[in-house]
Amino acid sequence: MSKLMAQLIAGEWRESRSRELIEVTDPATQEVLALAPKATHEEIEAAIASAKESFLSWREVPVSERARLMLRYQHLLKEHHDELAEILAKETGKTFADAKGDVWRGIEVAEQAANIASLMMGETVENVARGIDTASWIQPLGVCVGITPFNFPAMIPLWMFPLAIAAGNCFILKPSEQDPMTPNRLAELFIQAGAPKGVLQVLHGGREQVDALLTHPDIRAISFVGSVPVGQHIYRTGTAHLKRVQAFAGAKNHMVIMPDANKGQVLSNLVGASCGAAGQRCMAISVAVFVGAANNWIPELAGQMAELRPGYWNDPHAAYGPLISQHAKQRVQRLIAEGKAEGAECLLDGSHCTVPGYPNGNWLGPSLFRGVTTKMGLYREEIFGPVLVCMEVESLADAIKLINDSPYGNGTSIFTSSGGAARHFQHDIEVGQVGINVPVPVPLPFFSFTGWKGSFYGDLHAYGKQAVRFYSETKTVTSRWFDESPVTGPNMTIQLK
Ligand code: NAD
Repeated sequence: MSKLMAQLIAGEWRESRSRELIEVTDPATQEVLALAPKATHEEIEAAIASAKESFLSWREVPVSERARLMLRYQHLLKEHHDELAEILAKETGKTFADAKGDVWRGIEVAEQAANIASLMMGETVENVARGIDTASWIQPLGVCVGITPFNFPAMIPLWMFPLAIAAGNCFILKPSEQDPMTPNRLAELFIQAGAPKGVLQVLHGGREQVDALLTHPDIRAISFVGSVPVGQHIYRTGTAHLKRVQAFAGAKNHMVIMPDANKGQVLSNLVGASCGAAGQRCMAISVAVFVGAANNWIPELAGQMAELRPGYWNDPHAAYGPLISQHAKQRVQRLIAEGKAEGAECLLDGSHCTVPGYPNGNWLGPSLFRGVTTKMGLYREEIFGPVLVCMEVESLADAIKLINDSPYGNGTSIFTSSGGAARHFQHDIEVGQVGINVPVPVPLPFFSFTGWKGSFYGDLHAYGKQAVRFYSETKTVTSRWFDESPVTGPNMTIQLK
C-alpha cells in the first residue's frame, strides 16, 4: 500500500505531484508510517480557488442545515473515537489514554459548532430614531486558513474548521507535517458526514506552503497555533497582507505551591502536569514555584518523578510516550546539559533513557532541577519535554512578580488552602488560564481561549465562543418603515430634544 498521503482539494482526495516528501515516523521506532507531500504552487491555487467558489453556495445553506452537518460529524467522531486515537497515538507516541483525550477535546468543539444558530445571533434595537430600527447580522468572511502544531493533531484542527465552516466559511487546513495522518482522517470523516465539495480542503507541507497561504489575496483570515517565533512570523506576515490573524503561541507555565497546600495533591498533580504527554503540552507546568517552607517537599517530588516510566503507546503502564522527533529530543538534552553547566542543581537527569524493546525511540526520562535562576536557559526557553524546574521564593507576592515578569502568559496555577491567597493570585496574575488547586486548566469551547503577552498575537481569542466572531463580519442594517413615518424633507440639523 502506498504511504504517500493524499490532499483534499475540491472535494477529492488527490495524489500530489510534488517531488518533495516529508517522512512521518513512529517516534518510538522510527518506522516511516507515511509520506506527506509539500503541496505544489498549483495545488495550493486549486484548493484556494475551489474554496472561494464553494463559499458562494455554502454561505447560502440555511444555518440549521449547517448545524445538522456538525451533529452528524460529532456522531461520527464519537463512533471512530478509538480508531482516531490509535492513528494519533502511533504518529505522536502519546499513550492511548492521552490520545483519546486529544480526540475528545476536539469532539467537544464539534458539539459546540452544532449550536451555530445561537452563536450567530445578531442584535437588534427598535426605535433608534422615531420609526427607525437597527439590526446587526453576523455574516461569514470567505476563505479561512488554519495552521496547526504537532502536539494536538486532533484537538487543534477541530478548534478551527468546525466553527469556521458552521459559520458559513470555507476552510483550508495545513496541519503539522510531523503528524498529518490524524487530520487527514478527521477530514475523511467530515466528508463522510456530508460536507459539500470544497467546503474543507487539506494541504500538506511546511514553511513555503504556509507562506503561500499567508500572502494569498483570496485568504481572509488565518488561525495559527504553534511556537513563538513561527507565531510572530505568521502574525507579522498575515497582517502585513491585511488579513485577520490570530496566533496562539508558546508558553512557560508556573505552578505556585503555598506551604498551606495539601502536599499529596500538590505532588501528584505536579508530576502529571509536568511530565504528562512527555511535557509536550502548551499547558504543561514547567516551573514549580515553592513559597517558603513548601520547598521541603522537593526531595519527595523527586522521588515520585523518578518512578515515572515512558513507554509505547499501547503499554497501559506507560506514564507518557517518546518525544515527537529525534531533533526535539536532542534539543531537550542540550537544555539539560546547559542547565547543569550554568550551575543549576540537577536532582533527576532523564537525558539517557531506554525502553526495553524500543531501542530507537525518542525517549527521555523525567528531569528535575532546583537552584534555577531567571537568567538560565532552563527558565527562559520553553523546554517542551519532561523537565521540571523548581524556583524558591519567600512570599506569594514574590511568586506573582516572578510570573508577571515572564514574557509568556498562557497558563498558571496555585495550590493553597487559603481563600485569600487564591483570590489575590487570581486577581493579580497576568496570565490567561488560571487554575486554583487545578494544575492544568483546560479551555472549553463554551468559553474563549485566552493567552496573554507573548503567548498570543491578535485581538479576539477566537476559540469556542469567540471563534464565530473571528470568522465573520458584522453588518448593521438600519431601516425605516415609510408607511408609518411621513416623508418630511431633508433633515439638516441634529435634534437634541
Ligand atoms: P511550530 O511553530 O514549529 O509549527 C506549527 C505550524 O507552523 C506547523 O504547521 C508548521 O508546519 C508551521 N511552521 C513551522 N515553521 C514555520 C515557518 N518558519 N514558517 C511558517 N510556518 C511554519 O510548532 P510545533 O513544534 O508544531 O508545536 C509546538 C508549539 O506549539 C509549542 O511552542 C507550544 O507551546 C505551541 N502550542 C501552543 C498552544 C496554545 O494554545 N497557545 C497550543 C498547542 C501548542
